[in-house]
Amino acid sequence: MSIQKNLDEIRKSLPEGVTLVAVSKTKPVNDLQLAYDAGQRIFGENKIQEMTEKWEVLPKDIEWHMIGHVQRNKVKYMAPYVSLIHGVDSLKLLEEINKQAEKNKRIINCLLQVHIAEEETKFGFNEHEVTEALQGEVFAALKNIKVCGLMGMATFTQDEIQIEKEFTGLKKIFDTLKNNVVADTVSMEILSMGMSGDYRLAIKCGSTMVRIGSSIFGARNYH
Ligand SMILES: *Cc1c(COP(=O)(O)O)cnc(C)c1O
Repeated sequence: MSIQKNLDEIRKSLPEGVTLVAVSKTKPVNDLQLAYDAGQRIFGENKIQEMTEKWEVLPKDIEWHMIGHVQRNKVKYMAPYVSLIHGVDSLKLLEEINKQAEKNKRIINCLLQVHIAEEETKFGFNEHEVTEALQGEVFAALKNIKVCGLMGMATFTQDEIQIEKEFTGLKKIFDTLKNNVVADTVSMEILSMGMSGDYRLAIKCGSTMVRIGSSIFGARNYH
């Protein structure tokens, strides 16, 4: 299977209003270029250094999405160009992103990551924390970020009923915040959920942005 064919098939299967992030982590720039030539403009990476190296050599109309866990001391490296940060999981991180955005005289778009999975290891706010964070004074002082929505990852399991429950739970939190949070820097438009294995289910549950890697680029080799 070719990258182009995979992309075409996935794109055809996505309903209108669902955005595709091509997750290219660990893949060589040649693979990204093939996807670019096939029309893909949004790429997701989970390491800031790797993303920055790719940003430097690839066409400048690509939108780079940081989908991985972000260390505060590395925000500065992507602040000049990153288009959306999916995994914002603390107010402290949001403050650092705001600071670096200010230095670069821009607004940086963020999604707040909400913990929906059973596993303890996955990062994110819970419902109470995310609501508090968006309504607090610390958040109100941040003027160089925009919270565009939420991101979540379901438990790594074959149990579709459980995955559906988790996605539906996140959609509910999303809708509640959308209807209740009023701030200039919040605009709940994006619900980022769904990967290669579960994106169809995620879309059924209300996802507006899917992050797909291996179904486009093939399995990853970690060294
Ligand atoms: C790697 C990754 C993906 C893509 O995973 P695939 O199963 O290859 O589609 C999606 N989201 C996040 C946060 C990831 O780290």
